[in-house]
Amino acid sequence: MALLDIVQTGDPILRERARDVDPADVRSGKYEKLVADMIETMRKAPGVGLAAPQIGVGLRIIVVEDDEGRMSKVSEAERTERRRAPFPLLVVHNPTLELHDRSFVSTSDDRDVFFEGCLSVDGFAALVPRARSVRVRGLDAVGEPLDFEVSGWAARIFQHEVDHVDGKLYLDRMLTRSFGTSELVAKRYAGLSIAEVRALLDT
Ligand code: ZN
Repeated sequence: MALLDIVQTGDPILRERARDVDPADVRSGKYEKLVADMIETMRKAPGVGLAAPQIGVGLRIIVVEDDEGRMSKVSEAERTERRRAPFPLLVVHNPTLELHDRSFVSTSDDRDVFFEGCLSVDGFAALVPRARSVRVRGLDAVGEPLDFEVSGWAARIFQHEVDHVDGKLYLDRMLTRSFGTSELVAKRYAGLSIAEVRALLDT
């Protein structure tokens, strides 16, 4: 396995629609090393998800994982507010999502708004509205079909990662006035609810 460099915003590969993978290639294990490297890179970062374009590969492959270690700095109140719970490692080839609300940027009540960061926009964070639950379809690590619903924080992770294979970044969806360095965001809004942060920012 190898630890790979994470591509940063500005690189054109993050703005292109990644190519579908051939299901026969998934079953043959063609992408086994690539996926193993993606998992290792995600864990080392650490991140809760990684898409192939983020390591410079224009293929529709994502890996997702959330666990107690990654959320150790998140308070109990924040976990409840974000509906964040451990999510086991999952590899998805050719992921597609079905959202309850497909509008591009919306602050309506049917969406959750929370701070989000990205390994390809290193050192920054912003409030991003996301659908509360999504249906995920695709092929798993060995090419078997996947079809399941997720909600809460996991739904946000999947929307973020599938955006990557569509050439989108959270920057395209964020509430722009909330954009800041991760350090300042953590310091300035510590202990505040999202409603309080939004009132403060007038957004
Ligand atoms: Zn990202």
